[in-house]
Amino acid sequence: MKYPPQLIAAVQAASDIVEVVRERVDLKKKGTNYWGRCPFHSEKTASFSVSPSKGIFKCFGCGKGGSVFQFIMETDGLSFGEAVRVLAERARIELPKPGREDEERFNREDSLFETNRWAMSAWIANLQSPAGKAAREYLENRGITAESISKFNLGYALPGWEDLKSTAYRDQIRSEFLEELGLVIRGDQGKTYDRFRDRLMFPIQDHIGRYIGFGGRIMTSDTDFAKYMNSPESAVYHKSRVLYGLFQARESIRKKESVLIVEGYLDVISLHQAGFTHAVATSGTALTPDQVRLIKRYTDKNVVFLYDGDSAGLSAMERSLPVLFTEGIIPTILTLPDNHDPDSFIRQKGADQFTWFLNEKRRSAIDFVLGYYQSQAGDAINDREEAIRRVIDLAAVYPDGVGRDLIIQELASLARIPESTLFASLKKRGGQQSLPTRPVREKPMAPPDTLPAVKPVRTTLLAPERDLLKLIIEYGKVVAAYLGYFVAPGYFPTELARSVYEKALALSEEREYWELQDLADRCTEHEQELVYRLAIEKYSISPRWKSMGFDKESLDVRRWIEDAITRLRIQSVESHIHDLKNQLASTDDPEVQQSMMRSVQELLAEKKKLLSGDLFRQEDEPA
Ligand SMILES: [Zn+2]
Repeated sequence: MKYPPQLIAAVQAASDIVEVVRERVDLKKKGTNYWGRCPFHSEKTASFSVSPSKGIFKCFGCGKGGSVFQFIMETDGLSFGEAVRVLAERARIELPKPGREDEERFNREDSLFETNRWAMSAWIANLQSPAGKAAREYLENRGITAESISKFNLGYALPGWEDLKSTAYRDQIRSEFLEELGLVIRGDQGKTYDRFRDRLMFPIQDHIGRYIGFGGRIMTSDTDFAKYMNSPESAVYHKSRVLYGLFQARESIRKKESVLIVEGYLDVISLHQAGFTHAVATSGTALTPDQVRLIKRYTDKNVVFLYDGDSAGLSAMERSLPVLFTEGIIPTILTLPDNHDPDSFIRQKGADQFTWFLNEKRRSAIDFVLGYYQSQAGDAINDREEAIRRVIDLAAVYPDGVGRDLIIQELASLARIPESTLFASLKKRGGQQSLPTRPVREKPMAPPDTLPAVKPVRTTLLAPERDLLKLIIEYGKVVAAYLGYFVAPGYFPTELARSVYEKALALSEEREYWELQDLADRCTEHEQELVYRLAIEKYSISPRWKSMGFDKESLDVRRWIEDAITRLRIQSVESHIHDLKNQLASTDDPEVQQSMMRSVQELLAEKKKLLSGDLFRQEDEPA
């Protein structure tokens, strides 16, 4: 549901970020900010800070930062709308009642969650009853402890056709909900009966803990029945959007900055029990884009794929890789020996052996794909070609140029093929090589200059870039508009800084007034990280500045800004002179040389002008 901006602002104003963070993190006041140990990565010293005046948090260790909403989104893995709801409730602000249709839908969904929860408790009771003896023994043989049974709310569905149905009748559960959730099935004669019979039941929760469906493992050895059966798709259960165990694992995934993806329910439970509390399962299918995005809410690092070496496992893996690469994740892959799955491996060899395997034997996805296709029997040369083609396909869908380069470099070194050959074939395949040269939009109000844009190739910000962005972040529109007059985006040699600068200029053109949050809303995650980091950094230009606005009296600040602009432009000129001199050395054509020399002369003149401070005097005192 979309809330009006005034309401979001009211919720934010009513939610003191220090108080909200304090509910989860110990904070100590130092200067104007508060400091504590980051909840998003494990650390011994406090590098997580909260600025009450700016209403933001920022971790200097892992880079996470944002408003009180982002804090709740990150800690609880919620969407923006969900975070607004949580904070509104905390602040006792009433959110607008959803329209009747929405309200009906919400109520209906709640009833469905509650119906599932009811079924779960009926099955939990069965497991503990005399009728659950065989199922309990099964779990015992698999080494599942009572603690795990209760952590994952395992239960048992009785063998009869109408056991759940009659319990529902007794508890006055509405049959339409049972039917919609697929807990009962309506037969040809119009009579309903239990879907899950004689099965060990695994409740499936979504990432915020609601009970959305079930998986059931058959207890008889009768092969007429599928070994595993799941709830059918319903208004609340979408198989492709859930990961089993994520609710239990999410805290640990974030702390460890790693996730183990396995196939089955019991794999997850055994792993959690053995201390690998960052394991989740796909329930035997290939990963979907929704599932990968769900994982990315908690970590985008160290995604480890564990799969059974059987053909179903391999094929799930093969289909999952493009999905992960498309989302910018290069996983590592662990194959367990002797047809073990994680559950059987841990039971037989123990947690230490598993840790050793995990650390020593997992391979990069690229290495895995090469090995996988090359080990298929048959024509060795064609297999090798196929394997390389597969990796290039994966590189082509990877969203970021630098990552693509790294994939190709790894492939080149593993397959012993020159990088240039692989890049050529990536290009043919449609993927881009990196080093983007983005066309730079000249601001209409920028002064005419002789400088073509410098290619944005730097990754660390130069000091004047930082200073200028910090000024913009601190003072918003008033400074951005002024800067836009003197500094074209092309002067920013760092891609990241340039992009944030362009967004600030665009905002200033569109709006009379804007704030930090407006800029952050337009930024990519990577850009936001920079924006929040600069926003919370210690030095502030002048405490008086904000109240004064930008006017003739604030000469000191103005000089400060002008100084940063000048330094940035000098830097830009110097880098251009440097480039020209390099080119000069590599050409014999006297005409080209002459024109280059002219350009260098012009640039040197420009530099002299900049150093003398003429740039601003001219603008200030028109003749
Ligand atoms: Zn952190």
